[in-house]
Amino acid sequence: MGSLNFMMVEPVIISACLVGVNCRYDGQSKVAEPLLGFCQRHNIILLPICPEQLGGLPTPRSPACFRGGDGKSVINGNAALYNFDGREVSPFFLAGARRALKIARLNSSCHAVFQDRSPSCGVHEIYLGNELIPGSGVTTTLFRMNGMAVWTVEEFSRHCQLLLHN
Ligand code: SF4
Repeated sequence: MGSLNFMMVEPVIISACLVGVNCRYDGQSKVAEPLLGFCQRHNIILLPICPEQLGGLPTPRSPACFRGGDGKSVINGNAALYNFDGREVSPFFLAGARRALKIARLNSSCHAVFQDRSPSCGVHEIYLGNELIPGSGVTTTLFRMNGMAVWTVEEFSRHCQLLLHN
């Protein structure tokens, strides 16, 4: 896991839906209010991105799930993502992950706080068909392959609290 410079200067990449951007498949967001307040109070710079929008998918969009493996398998060409209309959408997810990584690098960011269970941003769990299994999303996997630390909202908040109290 990377260093903790984000407490000072390094921007932290965050799933855009967590800051209130209506970029989810259903056109909604999932605002993480306590986290946003915490970051504001402690001058942690957040950089919102939505990998699926960056990859060219529309909003709202048909939800997608994995077939044959998680984000790592998609990157390795051994699995794919299909939306509920039966269309393969892996190229959009891969393009979004690459563009998200480019944004992270341009901003010297080594940390991300992501929405778990998303096919792009999933941190510890993803949907293989209808089944929730351990695994990571496509962008999360690419970030980790490039040395970035990826956290859930809860993990990130807990870690920051620990740092502040030590
Ligand atoms: S791809 Fe990530 S940022 Fe975009 S809606 Fe899904 S969880 Fe949120």
